[in-house]
Amino acid sequence: MIGLSMPELDVWSERVVVALGQNPGIFTGPGTNTYLVGTGRKRILIDTGQGIDAYAGVLERALERAGCDGIQQIVLTHGHPDHGGGLAQVQQRFGPLRVSKLAGPDDAGAKLVCEPLADGDAVRTEGATLRAVHTPGHAVDHLCFVLEEEGSLFSGDNVLGVGTTVIPSHGGDLLDYMDSLARMLALAPSRIYPAHGPLIADGPAKLRDYIAHRNAREAQILAALGVGHADVATVVKRVYTDVPEILHAAAGHSVAAHLYKLEREGRVRRCDQRTPLYAIWSLTSDWELA
Ligand SMILES: [Zn+2]
Repeated sequence: MIGLSMPELDVWSERVVVALGQNPGIFTGPGTNTYLVGTGRKRILIDTGQGIDAYAGVLERALERAGCDGIQQIVLTHGHPDHGGGLAQVQQRFGPLRVSKLAGPDDAGAKLVCEPLADGDAVRTEGATLRAVHTPGHAVDHLCFVLEEEGSLFSGDNVLGVGTTVIPSHGGDLLDYMDSLARMLALAPSRIYPAHGPLIADGPAKLRDYIAHRNAREAQILAALGVGHADVATVVKRVYTDVPEILHAAAGHSVAAHLYKLEREGRVRRCDQRTPLYAIWSLTSDWELA
């Protein structure tokens, strides 16, 4: 994701203005996209970036570009620090705004004080109705938002404008994630506004790509285990032959997420009690033969 640059703010539809969080990095790409949504004097802000000083000015300019003069309330796609980390900064400037998100297990630790938002709930402002869709997998508290007036979707970290979504060992779950992608595809979003990277013009095509990519990776991992019992590091060496070794650690986390999913589906087995990243794995069919 490194190297891709985006303007600090942009108008992506008559209801949507994006303002970049000014936090570019390995995991954030060009930075977190925060969104002003609606058509009235005050807009909904989706996500707040990470609390970077330079974001304050970008948000001011984005409000100006949007032709409005304030923020009605804040909603968060999930509690990761590059999404909720800018709450204090935004509230310092605009006062104690209402903040809504799906309740998550890490909210207290992250000092996120929010009103709970549940699957199916709507958040409304002039010109925009955002419908929350619970879509865990990248994070347990992850929500996407359908913008009903457009049939478009704010995808949070579940679909990105560049690169692929990380399934973290803490809070991530690939089985849930694949279900969430299917749920998002069933919504047939006209376009997708991702939390990182450029606008996605064809939502269903991107979602089908994402699903196909994971399924192809899973087939490779199963084939790699077909060669013989292996730990994650060995599977990575068998599968990621075209990827430089410096990226193998990151690939290992992805493989571990796949193996944990396949284990829950009964298709692979752990040969010992270690965590997914360190255990020896085998195909369930091999295990039964042994
Ligand atoms: Zn995230």
